Amino acid sequence: MSAAREEIHILEDDPLVAATVARTLEEYGFATRWFRTAGELLAAAARQAPALVVVDLGLPDRDGMDVVRELRQTADCGVLILTGRDVLSDRVLGLELGADDYVVKPFEPRELVARIRSILRRRSQPVAGKARRLARFEAWRYDPASLVLGAAGGAEEILGAAEARLLLCFLEHPNRVLSREQLAGNSDLSPLDRSIDVRVSRLRKRLNDDTQSPRLIKTVYGAGYVLTAGVQWEIA
Ligand code: CA
Repeated sequence: MSAAREEIHILEDDPLVAATVARTLEEYGFATRWFRTAGELLAAAARQAPALVVVDLGLPDRDGMDVVRELRQTADCGVLILTGRDVLSDRVLGLELGADDYVVKPFEPRELVARIRSILRRRSQPVAGKARRLARFEAWRYDPASLVLGAAGGAEEILGAAEARLLLCFLEHPNRVLSREQLAGNSDLSPLDRSIDVRVSRLRKRLNDDTQSPRLIKTVYGAGYVLTAGVQWEIA
């Protein structure tokens, strides 16, 4: 076999984790390059796409979800999220944005290698692209793969990763009361932590919902929030 070694880029701000991942992959014959910030990784991937990028979600300069989305739009490579955040909303959003797989730290080296090999194998086979989903609710449409929220009049905006995570959580569970912990994806959320309320309020503004007497995202006192709208998912 004379095939060049496949290069894997590792985006990880923790040098110890990066070294462990690199050592594991190199033991199994991959070439690796380590990037500490999203900016450096995206610049390198734009010049020459690696076979696959291992993306950490907690980064100093960007939300890892933004990196996943941008890689999907700019580089033809596999994407594996490797994160300490074992949170369903992150897993769903990550895969929705086009990540090929999601592995939680601490990882078992052989499992990581098996998942990476499986992504590379899948990517080497020509297959029809994964169907993209589009959500419609009231006069809105939302594309979870591009994070584009469209209004009835045609105006579109791209949501930030945190807002996108929240909106997707509501759209996946319409007309169901979701606790602040469920929405934050954090089971030991402090009752004093208002970050989720701030995010809900920001999302209401995006959706032109009245923040004083909201109609679309209602507050259920002592329980959480509920999206009071029917949601239709269709293939984009
Ligand atoms: Ca990190």
